[in-house]
Amino acid sequence: MANPMADDMRRFKATDEKNPFEAMSERFDRAAQLLGLDPDLYAVLRVPSRELKVYIPVKLDSGHIQVFEGYRVQHNFARGPAKGGIRYAPDVTLDEVKALSAWMTWKCAVVNVPFGGAKGGIICDPRQMSESELERLTRRYTAELLDFIGPDKDVPAPDMNTNEQTMAWIMDTYSMHARHTVTAIVTGKPIALGGSLGRREATGRGVLFTVNEAIKRFNLTPAQTSVVVQGSGNVGGIGASLMHEKGYKVVAISDIFGGIYNSNGLNIPDVLDYLKYTKSLEGYKEADYVSNSELLEIECDVLAPCATENQITSENADRIKCKILAEGANGPTTPKADKILHEKGIFVIPDILCNAGGVTVSYFEWVQDRMGYFWREDEVNQRLEEKMVASFVELSDLAELHNVDTRTAAYMLAIDRVAYDTKMRGIYA
Ligand code: GLU
Repeated sequence: MANPMADDMRRFKATDEKNPFEAMSERFDRAAQLLGLDPDLYAVLRVPSRELKVYIPVKLDSGHIQVFEGYRVQHNFARGPAKGGIRYAPDVTLDEVKALSAWMTWKCAVVNVPFGGAKGGIICDPRQMSESELERLTRRYTAELLDFIGPDKDVPAPDMNTNEQTMAWIMDTYSMHARHTVTAIVTGKPIALGGSLGRREATGRGVLFTVNEAIKRFNLTPAQTSVVVQGSGNVGGIGASLMHEKGYKVVAISDIFGGIYNSNGLNIPDVLDYLKYTKSLEGYKEADYVSNSELLEIECDVLAPCATENQITSENADRIKCKILAEGANGPTTPKADKILHEKGIFVIPDILCNAGGVTVSYFEWVQDRMGYFWREDEVNQRLEEKMVASFVELSDLAELHNVDTRTAAYMLAIDRVAYDTKMRGIYA
């Protein structure tokens, strides 16, 4: 008899190392096979629930209208409303958004928050747009999605090139149509509009908490641990600051143009101030200027890629010289690189755990909005630490039990949870 799971796997066979959806699918397949996932559940979980493509007409400041292409992919609803950010970028693709939406499903399941996964994206270059053009783009995109999003349906959040202001516009647009204020429609809002204390720092803080756990396995203290961070935005910049504050020796950091390196450690608050005023790391005193690819190959204890996908591939994985890879970004490592890193004995904190601090505090924000009662920042951080540490331990135990790498263990943990809930709910016909 034909095996539908094997047929599906052939159909989805990866051909392009850098296609994020193929990368996600390859990891999914491996974990599904190890779990002995029922072929029917496999077929359901292998694809997103819904892919929306919208064309967004926006009146530019010049008076002309430009039509932008946007997406919202809702990957899974088995465990609760779909959840995930919206990114604005000139090179965003539907396959990328699909992969990111699936990663949200697995991420929420790894940290065991009651959400499914979604992701949005608009092909645009926010650097070339004025604030009011971005506002009109955001509001019209929200209007196109009105029937599909909501506090119980799908809850957007910030991602690359979107921020608290973007969320405020989405919240306002949605609320104007609902005829009342609906704070729980988005997370990552300004504090004054129902945002949560600690949300802005949450992804970087989550990276710190998982790194704290990982270094224990190498008998390292923060002071003995050198860290290289790729990225200086909401994840990399904040993650580096928090690690610096905890006593880690952050030796290198970068932005999109390049990075700086000093083997004795960098004064991260000073570096970030410099970056804020000069808009570049080039010329920073007492450090060598390096390219982003050179930065990844610096010898260190912890390498934290906190920027974007496909940074560690079959081309450079062999030259990575860290003990711990802390994936603050989504999808920074390709499956081919996974194998090489595994052979080199590098301990990977997989993205769907490492960067899950953001969505964990998004969950806290959603809960607080629905209660109308807000927690202190130390309460938020404490609850975040509990979740991140518990998930790290669960995942490491599972990896040991099944003798698999940590990424496979993370997928197994997540798929098992989503599959169980899907099976219990059954398929509605
Ligand atoms: N964009 C973030 C992520 O990739 C946060 C998503 C959220 O909070 O919903 O995890």
